[in-house]
Amino acid sequence: AGQATIIDGKAFAEKLRGGVARQVDALKARHGITPGLAVVLVGEDAASQVYVRSKSKKTTEVGMQSFQHTLPVETGEDELLDLVRRLNSDPQVHGILVQLPLPKHIDSEKVIDTIDPAKDVDGFHVVNAGRIATGALDRAMIPCTPRGCQMLLQDQLGDMSGKRAVIVGRSNIVGKPMAQLLLAENCTVTIAHSRTRDIAAECRDADIVVAAVGKPEFVRGDWIKPGATVIDVGINRLEPEEPGGKGRLVGDVAFDEAKQVAGAITPVPGGVGPMTIAVLLANTVTAACRQAGVEEPA
Ligand code: NDP
Repeated sequence: AGQATIIDGKAFAEKLRGGVARQVDALKARHGITPGLAVVLVGEDAASQVYVRSKSKKTTEVGMQSFQHTLPVETGEDELLDLVRRLNSDPQVHGILVQLPLPKHIDSEKVIDTIDPAKDVDGFHVVNAGRIATGALDRAMIPCTPRGCQMLLQDQLGDMSGKRAVIVGRSNIVGKPMAQLLLAENCTVTIAHSRTRDIAAECRDADIVVAAVGKPEFVRGDWIKPGATVIDVGINRLEPEEPGGKGRLVGDVAFDEAKQVAGAITPVPGGVGPMTIAVLLANTVTAACRQAGVEEPA
């Protein structure tokens, strides 16, 4: 057993955002296009507010336009759908993101299905999910977190053909699209979930483990095949150790154990987390280019 390579998602994301900024400059100079991203937040969920603020800041940092719509928690579904339709027809808006979770009285599925699939930079619309499932990835908007994981894996491993990948978690926003992307990489993919009989045994066979469970340190070190690549999507805040303190952030993988066995592993924080926003910005550039019918700058 050795020490795993620690995959620096923060540095990778910075590089990616740098590339996006250069693309934005080129689009402005060559075509007079400034990509625009609209973010819609309903209510006052603390974590969502942090995410939305950070998205808007990073959007303007790469030279794109940021449109933020913050609506009160009691906003009706019809009102939200109207806003989405207005954004769909706004030529300055190339990407639309509705921050989840939405308040209970609003049907999230209906809201997502109202977003123009071409502007669905989160990649949650059924049309985009369908394109990903049928292998039409070049015409889809790909969900940001799984796409970020795929990029880290490509960077680490290169060709993934024939590798065994186990994804723990089957949510529509992480687990399922992750499985589709790794299938597109020609991995042999297993999706584990809460009804899987022996998750540890499934993981022990895997060359690649992606943990998206939402349970602190769920995946243990002795589940990892020596040399395997481990991608930890989880973001869990533990109880503060002292009253008034801020609890530690941990992933879905027991990092200290797993890094003794794995070949490479993402840390939390600083692994997958920073990739999500960077991919969101990249998706917005892609969306803007497709909408304008221009080639995406290199
Ligand atoms: P969900 O809660 O939607 O899905 C969790 C999945 O884990 C489900 O499929 C569930 O199975 C499975 N699961 C739960 N408990 C167990 C168990 N005991 N054994 C096996 N499987 C289990 O979570 P998300 O996919 O939205 O997110 C997963 C994690 O990733 C969270 O920690 C979240 O905070 C983080 N996250 C991070 C992002 C980022 O880095 N930017 C973005 C999005 C999420 P079942 O379907 O059977 O219930």
